[in-house]
Amino acid sequence: MMDLEGARRSTALIVALGAALAASSAGAAEPSWTRPVEPFRIVANVYYVGSEGLSAYLIVSPKGDVLLDGTLAENAPLIERNIEKLGFKPTDVKVLVASHAHNDHVGGLARLKQDTGASFWASAGDRWALEHGRHRGDTNYGVGTFPPVKVDHVLSDGETVRLGDIALTAILTPGHTPGCTTWSLPVREGGRALSVVFPCSTSVAGNILVGNRAYPGIVADYRASFARLKTLKADVVLPNHPDMADVLGREARRRGGDAKAFIDPGQLPKMVAATERAFDAGLAKQTAAKAR
Ligand code: ZN
Repeated sequence: MMDLEGARRSTALIVALGAALAASSAGAAEPSWTRPVEPFRIVANVYYVGSEGLSAYLIVSPKGDVLLDGTLAENAPLIERNIEKLGFKPTDVKVLVASHAHNDHVGGLARLKQDTGASFWASAGDRWALEHGRHRGDTNYGVGTFPPVKVDHVLSDGETVRLGDIALTAILTPGHTPGCTTWSLPVREGGRALSVVFPCSTSVAGNILVGNRAYPGIVADYRASFARLKTLKADVVLPNHPDMADVLGREARRRGGDAKAFIDPGQLPKMVAATERAFDAGLAKQTAAKAR
């Protein structure tokens, strides 16, 4: 039997998936995507600096910081303010990385790159999209555009971004976009070793799965990514849509006294299973529609 909390979180996940799909389909932003929230420390040297509905994560070290995702173009100043509110400097960000080349995650990077002077590391699969400011692959909602951002270093699968004591490893999990990148970071918190995983999106979110001319390998890529994500061990899961792992709810619970609110090894398998079921259903539907 699913407990009440589990049921609530599953509902939140479905709502988040639906909201992301609806917003990307309409080409418009959800109101929560630009709504500010107070930034906060999540675990060890990892901080939340995004908006209420879109994540940006700051990982700090004495040698400089890494910023993961820029959210929407109009959110760049909000992210910079959040970094400052935490007592850090945007100019200490030395490396920018991304989850995937969709406007709700990389729209702010051009401005953030300019303001911080950081070097941008991204996957080969998303490079074209990032540098042209438009996503690659056929969708049912047209083309999402964003300010183009130059890639300074093309990441290979398994490559690690090292800065001070940060060792952030890129795990390519394509499908949602051709270069969708999951990130893995080992940290220590209270003397305990923890694995933090920033999973890339695995939702269908309007992607054409059957007959995608711009991205013919899309189905095989999704399948391989589901399989790969199932092999990852994650103590702390930090997705690019915070609702998908109830990031803000966990922070509220921690403020309420639950010191382990972010530690949940069951979260990643649950997310992967939910999106894989939705993918299978979406693929079956598109296959049936094509056959008619
Ligand atoms: Zn996306």
